[in-house]
Amino acid sequence: MMAGAVGTDAFGPELLAVLQSDGIETRHVCTKDGTSGLAFITVDESGENTIVLSAGANGALKPDDVKGVLELEDVQAILIQNEIDWATNEYVLRQAKAKGIRVLFNPAPAVRIPEELLHYIDLLVLNESETELMTGIAADTREHAERAARSLIAAGVRQVIVTLGAAGSLYVCDSGEVVFTPAFRVKAVDTTAAGDTFIGSLAASLTKGRPMSEALVHASAASALAVMHKGAQASIPTEEQVVRFLEEQAG
Ligand code: ADP
Repeated sequence: MMAGAVGTDAFGPELLAVLQSDGIETRHVCTKDGTSGLAFITVDESGENTIVLSAGANGALKPDDVKGVLELEDVQAILIQNEIDWATNEYVLRQAKAKGIRVLFNPAPAVRIPEELLHYIDLLVLNESETELMTGIAADTREHAERAARSLIAAGVRQVIVTLGAAGSLYVCDSGEVVFTPAFRVKAVDTTAAGDTFIGSLAASLTKGRPMSEALVHASAASALAVMHKGAQASIPTEEQVVRFLEEQAG
């Protein structure tokens, strides 16, 4: 289920139709006067991207608009990121904690999360630049990523994953467990949505009951498939494609 907002522009109904055609429940996507959220993306020859974001309707999403989601009976996990109003994220964090709902958080675009809210996050997934902004530590090596993740855990987050692009990802848990998951070696055409695909896949796996180490491999495979294809949303693979890719890789 997706919660959020679209605008009253031509993109609004189109965005909803795309989600619905993928079988995503959009009952909690509301419509706000004005434009939909827009991302202007440039991709260089190596497949790296630069994104200029216009929050549009997402920026107008208020706590009242998402109240209904938190009141649903069987919510196992909520995945949030920073394209909506910060006050709404803060509301979701507090409510989810009170109701025992697992919260996965991808702080993109990067903003500093107030320290007193870090213990509301069960799993924080962040890339190198988000890690640097939140911790002041440049996560340019596995060691530095681990140090950054440990500083976030010391500040209250339960589990942290630092994604390192083509170098893979590092998971650190407050229990002391550390798991490094290499990226699959693929030809990157367009890395847009690699992080989004990674965390989306992870959320799906964890709610299905997959153990973390397996969920990490699935997420790595899903995002490898995403970077092999052009586009953002259009490059995100289905579960079936991920399973097939993993079978092929296993030989
Ligand atoms: P973001 O898109 O948020 O910047 P990353 O670039 O760290 O996130 O990518 C997230 C995950 O996607 C990585 O941990 C890795 O598993 C996968 N990935 C990213 N780039 C590549 C690549 N060039 N080849 C294979 N996998 C990749």
